[in-house]
Amino acid sequence: MSIRIVGITKQFGAFKALDDVSLDVPQGTLLALLGPSGSGKTTLLRIIAGLETADRGSVLYDDEDVTTRNARDRNVGFVFQHYALFRHMSVFENVAFGLRVRKVPKTEVNKRVEELINLVRLSGMAGRLPSQLSGGQRQRVALARALAIRPQVLLLDEPFGALDAKVRQELRQWLRRLHDEIGMTSVFVTHDQEEAFEVADRVVVMNKGKIEQQGTPREVFDHPANPFVMDFLGNVNVFSGRVQNGKASWGGMEVEYPDYPHQESREASVYVRPHELDIERFATEEGALRVEVKRVNPTGSVAKVYGVSLEYGSPVHVELTPDRYAELELREGEVVYVSPRRVRVFLPTLPEYSI
Ligand code: ADP
Ligand code: MG
Repeated sequence: MSIRIVGITKQFGAFKALDDVSLDVPQGTLLALLGPSGSGKTTLLRIIAGLETADRGSVLYDDEDVTTRNARDRNVGFVFQHYALFRHMSVFENVAFGLRVRKVPKTEVNKRVEELINLVRLSGMAGRLPSQLSGGQRQRVALARALAIRPQVLLLDEPFGALDAKVRQELRQWLRRLHDEIGMTSVFVTHDQEEAFEVADRVVVMNKGKIEQQGTPREVFDHPANPFVMDFLGNVNVFSGRVQNGKASWGGMEVEYPDYPHQESREASVYVRPHELDIERFATEEGALRVEVKRVNPTGSVAKVYGVSLEYGSPVHVELTPDRYAELELREGEVVYVSPRRVRVFLPTLPEYSI
């Protein structure tokens, strides 16, 4: 099912939460709504779901206008950040809930719930209460529950926001696979650009109730439409690299990557946060990116250095402590060596990857 949003405006009192927003989500797409807190992401998602009504504009599923149809009749599944599982119900009953409400026959409920519990890899835990599960497991129950009604549209509002980084990353990969297997149209909200870029087919960057830019992750990252998008994405550096034989390589550097032991070389994306990069005047043994310093901003609690990688031609953003910055005495226009203290390597979804 495709989703089309046309000219949606939503006001809370005098405050315009959404201002004439239009958006197409083609059938089968996994789309990320990305933007700072307060930019209108949740409001837009709730309007798509039918949990909130817009002041103006319409929502179409395929070519059908569902603007006035309530959430129950839209056949959507949703998952929110604080997995509101029913605390006194078992995993099984949580997943079965939507089916029971819809008066699905008991044998059908049993069959479907069992399938879903397997799908989210929680077999053997059907009898547990939410309190007896880890955060990641609870979130998978929430997903199974959302999927129980066989939605054609899956809506997720910061579904992994409350989880720690490692679990979050595993669930992302897993969501991507699940989305592909089921062939749904999914929209998920996040304020974490890394998350959006890693799993989404399309990224929509929002700010103050408007869409600043939309496109594939690569399009948005390589060609930010305006300073807002550039600044918003500036919190992470992305480089293209490759993985092979348990190692990832990029820009002449190499790091261990045991998750990919295979001989066949594959493309990967390497993400480095600005504060995880260091600047040297000379190349170190481990290798470094050569970066031409374009601009420095030493005001504030960290010194920001903006440059361009000579290897990649792409922007590089480094944050230094004031002490380190003072020590380096950087000048605009000079070429320095930039090396990471830590990198994250992401692959396009691996079929054999499982958690
Ligand atoms: P996001 O999910 O991007 O953080 P939201 O869509 O939740 O943003 O909110 C956008 C703006 O609308 C915020 O400033 C928020 O305070 C306001 N807002 C959202 N829901 C309501 C509401 N029910 N009543 C009043 N203001 C609201
Ligand atoms: Mg929100």
